[in-house]
Formats: sequence, structure tokens, C-alpha cells
Amino acid sequence: MKSPPLSSLAPSTLLLSSGMAGADTSAPMPNVPPLYQSVGYELTDLAALEQAVVGQRHLYVRHGAPNEEAAARVLAQLEARGGPADLQVEATLLSSGMAAIEAAVMAVLDDRRVHSRDRPPLVVMASPIYSAARSLLCALANRGLMTLHELEVPDTAAVAAIADREPVALIYCEVLTNPRLRVPDLPALAALANQHGATLLVDATLATPLLCRPLTLGAHVVVHSATKFLGGHGDLCAGVVAGRPDVLERVRAHRQLHGSVLDPFAAWLLQRSLRTLDVRLQRQIENASALASFLSENAERLGVREVIYPGLPSHPDHALAKTLLDRPGAMLAFTLKTPEAARRAFERVRLLRRVASLGDVESLIMYPAATWSRSLSPKELARFGIAPGLLRLSVGIEDIADLQADLDAALGPQ
Ligand code: PLP
Repeated sequence: MKSPPLSSLAPSTLLLSSGMAGADTSAPMPNVPPLYQSVGYELTDLAALEQAVVGQRHLYVRHGAPNEEAAARVLAQLEARGGPADLQVEATLLSSGMAAIEAAVMAVLDDRRVHSRDRPPLVVMASPIYSAARSLLCALANRGLMTLHELEVPDTAAVAAIADREPVALIYCEVLTNPRLRVPDLPALAALANQHGATLLVDATLATPLLCRPLTLGAHVVVHSATKFLGGHGDLCAGVVAGRPDVLERVRAHRQLHGSVLDPFAAWLLQRSLRTLDVRLQRQIENASALASFLSENAERLGVREVIYPGLPSHPDHALAKTLLDRPGAMLAFTLKTPEAARRAFERVRLLRRVASLGDVESLIMYPAATWSRSLSPKELARFGIAPGLLRLSVGIEDIADLQADLDAALGPQ
């Protein structure tokens, strides 16, 4: 029996079609990617169902959805740019940067080669890393899923010493670190990882793939909080994992089981954001460089003790940054002579926004000694160089004269 024509359907049935049934499939493609805000995908026949089940695609939103896949494809291409011809990179998006970190770490630990060892796999964490990521690794270690060894960037020799003593499953680091913007020697760490059969996992949130592509430098897995520069507008929460297809298959399986899928709307927002990533970053970096120079040149007058920016020759990793990063980034930190001066400046800024995030088009200021105080002890704060006089800026796209005037007024005399 043939399906009844649309015109003969009762209003209650007709309304359910939401205009899709009988839609003009030859309509021109919209310029802006459409949003596929749908949990399921209509399957034309049994063969389509069987294909979707085998391929685990377009069956159900938790298996991956069109907006997420489109954004992930662009990110995979960015991550592979400039790498060897045989570098195979896939990417996938998750519901947050933390979800991406958890899925990536578990994908490494789920590798059968890691499990074949008789002790919990050893993870070397090159601190400082994002405080929640550190807490997650500690929690996994407490559950007996891994043994954790913490050391500091840029101590590659210490990583080598550990790997010589016992098998290392995972080396975890960030480029750039927060808030002192250290640059780990990624090629050296990758060589070490390869020599010892370990995985090098790099959180490149603060760098973005436009500044640094760890996979092309030998790293095995890259994660990002897309909530930051990739999203850039402070209106979405997302995470990225990029790496070899076999690792990504495990990440997707983990995401599907744990439900840490990215909502289509957030993926669509990210697609929108990626279109302007390069120009946003370019302007943010120009502004950050200009502010770093401004603070250095006016250090005495403004009570600035130290300016931390990889683009400045005074930064301990300036030379490494020049070789590993295409540009020095839009993050900047500085220490004032007293904690009181830092607290006062934090409260006096008018244009810079006191927001506990980074990477937005607006300039953001943070006081790391306060934000990290719950997760790090005073000793750890000191060890990671988070001095009570330190302020961190995520520089935005405002006019540089306005940003300088805001800082000048906040740091200057009462
Ligand atoms: N990685 C880094 C370097 C971060 O700074 C953050 C958050 O601030 C994360 C990961 C976690 O990202 P999300 O907040 O998207 O979960």
C-alpha cells in the first residue's frame, strides 16, 4: 500500500513533519553551515540502518553528528598542517576540554599494550598542568588506574631518567603552560616517548593549532579546550582530541559510552568561530605583544617586577618558542612588587574583564593565586611560580590604546 499523500494527513500528523516532509531537496546550499539539531537521522531503508550500525555514524547523536564532524575535520587538517606526508590525523569533539582530556587519557590506558604490563601504567605529568586535569590524573591514580609521577616543564632530562628506570605509558604536558607560559621541548619528549614505547599527550589549548602542531613534532595525541581560543566568544564549552585513527577510534568509543558527546548547537557555534580564528588570533597576538612591550618599558613606573611572555627575549623559553611556535601567543602574565598591588590592580581594571577563562575576543584578567588556591597547596603554588603578585591576561581584540590606558590606570598611583 502506498503512503498517503501529505495533503491527506490529519493536522496532528502533518504538524510533526515540521516542514521537512516534502522539503525541496534541490534547494541551493546555504552559505552558513546548517545546524543539524537532531538526535537521530532518518534512515531511508534497512540497508542504510545496517550501514549506520556498522560505521557507527549518523545513527544516533551520541555516535557523532554532522556539525561536530565538520568542525572536527577542519581541526584535524589544522593539526596535520606541515607534518610528514604519511601523518594520519583524525579529530573528534567532546562536551568540554575536561571530557577530551579524560577520553584521551583513557584511550591511551585502554591500549592493550599498556595493559599487558603487570603494574598500573606509569604516567609522567610535566607540571604545571591545568589544575582540573591534574586533579583528574590524581583521581585516576587514587583509583589504581595509573601510577603518577609529577615533574616540571622543561625538565626533559628528568623524564629520560624515569623512562630509563621503568616503563612509562604516558607523558602528559601542556604547551604553553599556565600561567608562566613555559614551552616543553616537544621534539625531545616525542623522541623519548618513541624510544620507550610511551605516548606523548599534549594539551595545546593555550597555543591552538595555528601556533603549534604537536602531532607534526612527534607527539601522539593532542587535546584542546575548544571553550577557549577555538570558540573564542565565551559562549560555548567543547573539547577536542586529535591523533592517529586507532587512538581516535578508542576516544570515540569512550565518548559514546560515557555520553560526553558535543551538543550539535555547540558544534555549530564552533564552526562559526573557526571561520575567524586566524584573524582573531592575529589581532590578539599583536595586542599581547604590544602589552608585553608596554609593561616592560614602563615596569619601573608601574611597579612591574617581571613580564612573562614567550615573545620577549627575557622569557626562559624564548628561543624554543621561536622554533616550536609560529607566533608567541595571546597569553601574558606579569608580577607586581606586592600581592596588594596585584589585588588592587585586579579590582581597578575597567575594560579588562575579571573572567575565569581565556581565549575570548574580550581581554580577560585573572588572579591565579586565588583561582588555584583550592587545588594547589601554598608550597605547590610557589613551586609552579604562581606568586601572590602575579596577574594573568588573556588578550583580546580591543584597540591597543584602550587596553594600555586601562592597565596604566589600574597599575598606576591611586
Ligand atoms: N586545558 C586547559 C589548558 C585549560 O585551561 C582548561 C580550562 O581552563 C581545560 C583544559 C579544560 O577545559 P574545559 O573548561 O573546556 O573543560
